[in-house]
Amino acid sequence: MKAAVIRGTQKIVVEDIPTPEPGPNQVLVKIKYSALCGSDVHRFQYGMANDGSVLGHEYIGEVVQTGRDVTLLNEGDRVISGGGDPPAGTVSTLFSGERYSARTVGLEATRIGGFAEYVVMDEWRPLLIPAGVSDELAVLAEPASIAVHAVRTSAFKIGDQAVVMGAGPIGLLVMQVLKAAGAAAVYVSEPASARAESARVLGADLVLNPMEEDVVERVLELSGGPGVPVAFDAAAARPTFQQGMEMIRREGQLLVVSMAWEDVELRTVDWIGREVEMKAAYGSLPIDWRTVLSLMERGQLSEKSMVTDESFIGWDEMQVSMERLMKPEEHVQLVLVP
Ligand SMILES: [Zn+2]
Repeated sequence: MKAAVIRGTQKIVVEDIPTPEPGPNQVLVKIKYSALCGSDVHRFQYGMANDGSVLGHEYIGEVVQTGRDVTLLNEGDRVISGGGDPPAGTVSTLFSGERYSARTVGLEATRIGGFAEYVVMDEWRPLLIPAGVSDELAVLAEPASIAVHAVRTSAFKIGDQAVVMGAGPIGLLVMQVLKAAGAAAVYVSEPASARAESARVLGADLVLNPMEEDVVERVLELSGGPGVPVAFDAAAARPTFQQGMEMIRREGQLLVVSMAWEDVELRTVDWIGREVEMKAAYGSLPIDWRTVLSLMERGQLSEKSMVTDESFIGWDEMQVSMERLMKPEEHVQLVLVP
């Protein structure tokens, strides 16, 4: 089968590799769509993936072969790339370690991932795509599970105003999840015009341009003075951490769901007196994935302006697409059609 294989830092090569065989409790999935994630780009960009590995964890496909002991899935099932409950006793993730650091330990390893024609999965791992959910929406299930996890982990409560900084895929999904969860209003801060437009299309109450206006001032105004209860940093831009800490109210929370690989700016004197807090969210749990599928089924998540005709790429565009996504202003959703 064809696969896009990591061959050194910033090098991804399309090769023919053996099609994997499912074990007794595994299924073979033929991949239909496989989205390029910012974390795949980080692995590619910073040499965090082993030579010979196949990245890609945001995929959907169809079960085409089942191992002899498989009971949970059937041939023809449409599935997403995760969300199942691991069997009791399984410690599944590398980042469960106490001193886990994404920079020094690495991002969670994928063996043969989704940048391939086929992938083998343990039968418990994938969730079924509900009948009414399109493939184009379902391919966002994994990043949407990150967004649901961020909102569930945060101090956000129904009726709150919230701010999302950054309208890349994660920011746009966090914004939609906040709306679905009953936000009074969600304000998005985003300098790139195409992504600002996506935020508007997907229902942001207001999109602010941090290059043209003082976003902290504007958010304070919109909140009636004290600041918002929760802000989400989905940008990892140099100034967003500080802006987030300034725009939240007394004892408010900045929820960080982005990964900055470089230093960010901090000036504690501006916010220490309000006893604000910062919290991080990372990855997702089975309940987050299940929540995503029910939001999708009820029409509360949309791929509009995120997954479009321009999103789809072929094998020969893998290298150039990964390079393109290394530029922060290019955080659009690209999807490999293997
Ligand atoms: Zn991802």
